Amino acid sequence: MTKTYANLIDGELVTTGETLEVLNPANEQVVGLVPACGQDELDRAVTAARRAFKDWRKTSQEERQKVVQGIAAAIKDNADELFRLLTTEQGKPHAQAQQEIYGAAGLAAAQSTLTLDDVINQDDDQRLSRTRRVPVGVVGGIVPWNFPVMMAIQKIVPALVAGCTIVLKPSPFTPLTTLRIAELIKDVVPAGTVNIITGEDSLGPMITSHPDIDKITFTGSTATGKKIMEGASHDLKRITLELGGNDASIVLPDADVEKVAEQLFWSSFSNAGQVCIAAKRVYIHEDIYDELSAAIAEYAKGVTVGDGSQQGTGVGPIQNKKQFERVCELIQDAKDQGYNFLVGGEGGDPSGSGYYVPITILDNPPEDARIVAEEQFGPVMPLMKFSTNDEVIERANNSEYGLAGAVWTKDTEKGVEIAEQLETGTVWINEFMHLSPFAPFGGHKQSGFGAEYGIDGLKEFTYPQVITVKRDAVV
Ligand code: NAD
Repeated sequence: MTKTYANLIDGELVTTGETLEVLNPANEQVVGLVPACGQDELDRAVTAARRAFKDWRKTSQEERQKVVQGIAAAIKDNADELFRLLTTEQGKPHAQAQQEIYGAAGLAAAQSTLTLDDVINQDDDQRLSRTRRVPVGVVGGIVPWNFPVMMAIQKIVPALVAGCTIVLKPSPFTPLTTLRIAELIKDVVPAGTVNIITGEDSLGPMITSHPDIDKITFTGSTATGKKIMEGASHDLKRITLELGGNDASIVLPDADVEKVAEQLFWSSFSNAGQVCIAAKRVYIHEDIYDELSAAIAEYAKGVTVGDGSQQGTGVGPIQNKKQFERVCELIQDAKDQGYNFLVGGEGGDPSGSGYYVPITILDNPPEDARIVAEEQFGPVMPLMKFSTNDEVIERANNSEYGLAGAVWTKDTEKGVEIAEQLETGTVWINEFMHLSPFAPFGGHKQSGFGAEYGIDGLKEFTYPQVITVKRDAVV
């Protein structure tokens, strides 16, 4: 019988009469059922979070740290079970699922050490002025399907560390591993501090507009991010939005072709390209274009697309049907326009079982091709030729997005010089997708609003409060 996973509300594991089915994208079989929550369950969760906030906000840094480290340990100690379950619902190969689970445990452990110290603004004969950070209150967390566990943890942990409580909604496509973690942390977190409820997309706007939620932290598409901003505007909820990206990778002529080919490949194809910070446009200097594009295509031949639970799979299926159809449509459009393919050229088979899209590498499509200008979010890599640094910087910046990017070169000074001209929140020189728990991660332009990670991310769960004592007052 298919297992029903419970939600966590006020320290209790609860289910509802109505449930949603969760599919394995590798074969479209139902692998779990989850509660289909609506307004009633949300209200219960928010009430519990509000009540818990009264005590949690008064806890010491050490107490919060202990709870968060308990979450990290629960994930790490059960990593084997969790990564297998993650592959079953998300599709990513076991090795990448393992990275996500250990990464989430590591992030929780690292961020448990973050502290927001008071700042002295003035300390003289006239007055003592001090800024402290106070928690905003009850947080609504809304999470996508590409890194369901990492994204859940990167919302729960800073909320708790800052002294907030949270109601978290996983994506309806990938709620299972998060709900298994809910079971594991039920007795680790004080009742009501962490509530995890599942439902259709329609549960999202209920969270955004809930009058007793003070802040929304959201990761997902730019389109949904705009709706959230609008919904949150009615009562001026605080918001943090981590949205889409169309990251450019720039390869200078001095890059080592053999070494860079493999890394470039995975910067586009990890998690079947369903990564906000994947390289979605790859610009290669014309001097090495032919050699490097051939090396990437050659490397691609050795990578297997298949079921992520099978040994040897490098690229798993697309996570859901809607996204599968979108990626296939972009590939079909590129084919209809007559662009050249170095690898692939056909979308997936819609009549097959599982949402598999072949590895697709395009040879110098035009800048305004849909497959270049839009976020593909699939196993697609357009390679483009450039001649000068000024030209490539302008092309890279010609996007509504501004999440991240990379420069590949032996001349790291030149790499930094280019990085400083890119309009994105993060730029790597000679690596990709590295995020530090202590550095802010956030998008420029339409890739986001605010930041997560580090002290900057933590601050977003707080208000500044300035307390001033007049020293020379006559009272
Ligand atoms: P999505 O926007 O469709 O859904 C994300 C979450 O929002 C889901 O939980 C969904 O149920 C919920 N939701 C849907 N409609 C809503 C509404 N009107 N109000 C409130 N909540 C609503 O995104 P997705 O397809 O799950 O994820 C893919 C997108 O996420 C890509 O664009 C990707 O680039 C982006 N992403 C960004 C980051 C980042 O850190 N910047 C990280 C991962 C993914």
